[in-house]
Amino acid sequence: MVDPWGTQNINNEDEERLIKEFGLQPIDDVMWMSVKEHNSYFRRRITFAHRDFDLIIKAMERNAPWAVMSGIKPSGSFHLGTFTTASEIVELQNMGGRSYYCIADIESWEDNGISYADAYNTAIDNLADILALGLNPNRAYVWRQSKERIVKNVPFKVARKITNAWMRDMYGDKEFGLYLAALIQVGDILLPQIKDEPMPTVVPVGLDQAPHLRLTRDLTEIYYKKFFKPSSTYHRLLPGLDGSEKMSKRNPNSYFSFDEELESIKYKVSKAFTGGRGSAEEQRRLGGETEKCMIYRILMYGFEKDDKVLTDLYQDCRGGKILCGPCKKRAIETIITYIKNHRERKQDTLPIAREILSRKHKR
Ligand code: SF4
Repeated sequence: MVDPWGTQNINNEDEERLIKEFGLQPIDDVMWMSVKEHNSYFRRRITFAHRDFDLIIKAMERNAPWAVMSGIKPSGSFHLGTFTTASEIVELQNMGGRSYYCIADIESWEDNGISYADAYNTAIDNLADILALGLNPNRAYVWRQSKERIVKNVPFKVARKITNAWMRDMYGDKEFGLYLAALIQVGDILLPQIKDEPMPTVVPVGLDQAPHLRLTRDLTEIYYKKFFKPSSTYHRLLPGLDGSEKMSKRNPNSYFSFDEELESIKYKVSKAFTGGRGSAEEQRRLGGETEKCMIYRILMYGFEKDDKVLTDLYQDCRGGKILCGPCKKRAIETIITYIKNHRERKQDTLPIAREILSRKHKR
């Protein structure tokens, strides 16, 4: 069972099983070709599966409206995991999607016990981060779950036919608050269509979030017959930077956050798990195991924007032309430069984030 609030890792075998279980489709060549130019996550094959993304492509071809919906649980600073989803929504906005971004403060209360007041300050910071990544606030609707009537009304409407057995089957035995948070998320995902108009809506997520999408699709079919059942894309989750199964707050060396001391980020990247061989001689002879390497992967997930640099790195690594020491040094420079630039942009986006959320705060 996939637990959206849990800490389990999803390996390749799980991936195949879950693709079948959740009725997902792999990205075929036709879809890949039509999207790759505009979307680095498709192009780099980080996005590996979808459900009904064809609806989005058709809407784009017809110049019809479509939406991209995503969100963040305001439980801490921006980190490598949230960076992926946030960058995806920015790219999908640039492809023409109307953007909807949710601050999941009800979920951070139910899952982590964070009060709405504490979540509010984190939310400003998180929103400033995604604006610094390039989300255009003039073409985005941003809401906090605790203040948005639309999403709070949806659970009452859809819960009529939901039984305990259904929720247990979907999520396992959980506190009632988490079931409630899942129903609030149904509201988040449907908000673009409730607030504006029926239109295809894509939600870019990791595979661990697949149960929320399935629940929303099932309930849309029952209660919102005129709506499009939400589409989704799935990216591979990054394992821990240090080679552990999953990035987790319980293991600080498994990830870094965007507001961490630069020296600490440098240290963690320098200690990252690589695909290097046992000795320099072996690496020159056999080449590195690039696919396993966290340095390569975090560059690929967004810190390196230039495809050519990535391709060259891949080939040099596989061909044994580069060793891990100098490679890590170069990666540290790229990552630190990225973070510094991001922080500079964030100085400008913080007041905008504050303004957007205080507007919602007064409602
Ligand atoms: S050379 Fe670079 S990409 Fe290759 S395994 Fe070592 S650190 Fe990773």
